[in-house]
Amino acid sequence: MSLSVVIPCFNEADNIPHVYAEVVAEFGEHDLELVFVDDGSTDGTLEALKKLAESDPRVQYISFTRNFGFEAAFSAGYLYAGRDWILHLDADQQFPAAEGRRLFEVAQEGYDAVFGVRVDRDDPWVRRAGSAAFHALSRWLRIEVPRGATAFRLVRASLARTIVELELGTPYFLATVPRLTNRYTTVPVTHRGRTRGSSKVNVLWLARHALDLYVSVGRRLTSAAAGLSTAAAVVALLCAIVSPAGRTVPFLLAAVVLAVQGFTVRYLVSIAAGQARPRLFYVREATLPIREADRL
Ligand code: UDP
Ligand code: MG
Repeated sequence: MSLSVVIPCFNEADNIPHVYAEVVAEFGEHDLELVFVDDGSTDGTLEALKKLAESDPRVQYISFTRNFGFEAAFSAGYLYAGRDWILHLDADQQFPAAEGRRLFEVAQEGYDAVFGVRVDRDDPWVRRAGSAAFHALSRWLRIEVPRGATAFRLVRASLARTIVELELGTPYFLATVPRLTNRYTTVPVTHRGRTRGSSKVNVLWLARHALDLYVSVGRRLTSAAAGLSTAAAVVALLCAIVSPAGRTVPFLLAAVVLAVQGFTVRYLVSIAAGQARPRLFYVREATLPIREADRL
């Protein structure tokens, strides 16, 4: 097994020695690399990673210039991972590393990505309800997302790299895999509650992230907005035709404004993806060679 274990870390200093020990105990006999991504931590995470990297050459780290969020953190790890397969683990050990073996067994059947689905998810109800709503809405918007899939996954490194290199305006790894390959599947996995520190993922951030996906990939939402405007324009036009002479002008104006608005929405949506924007992340220091564009 040629394996890069990618571990995003945002203020996880206490967890780092434990997740390291678990990964090495589980996969130590393989061609292994651990890629920790320090996502702008302020709690000594970077110091903990440096110590680890000094004691074990299999440990690599990438440290960001600020907190860029979960999607950016794992994307950097995926981009710079050096082995054939990427196993994504959270620093808090909520996903048992041992389950990675099951993902690998299934991947051998010819998959590019194998996603873990938490059977007994040990997280607050808000988070469980949020995930259920996310999957239901994605289905309604006809956005293909592997059912129940989580960040705990084994992905062929070439696929993961290709996805990050797309530099999508609104990157959403989970929803991008099915756009590139049909060789993906899900596997039930066990899940543990957090024992050290608290959740670093902000529920509002998750909601905004989902909304970004819905308006960029799920055309239904923006099409509905544009369609509503166009329909209102048609109604205003009909009113202008049937209304008495003195009232025609305001209805005509309303029809023009609404029609322009409908087209503007469509136009904005079509160009939004190409807008100039900062990169997904910037790296301050790392043990791996980082491309010039990603450094600051
Ligand atoms: N994480 C990160 N950047 C962030 C938020 C989270 O790198 O802005 C990391 C975090 O340190 C952890 C993983 O992403 O290793 C999952 O986060 P967390 O456990 O807080 O999420 P939850 O399990 O509550 O969904
Ligand atoms: Mg967690």
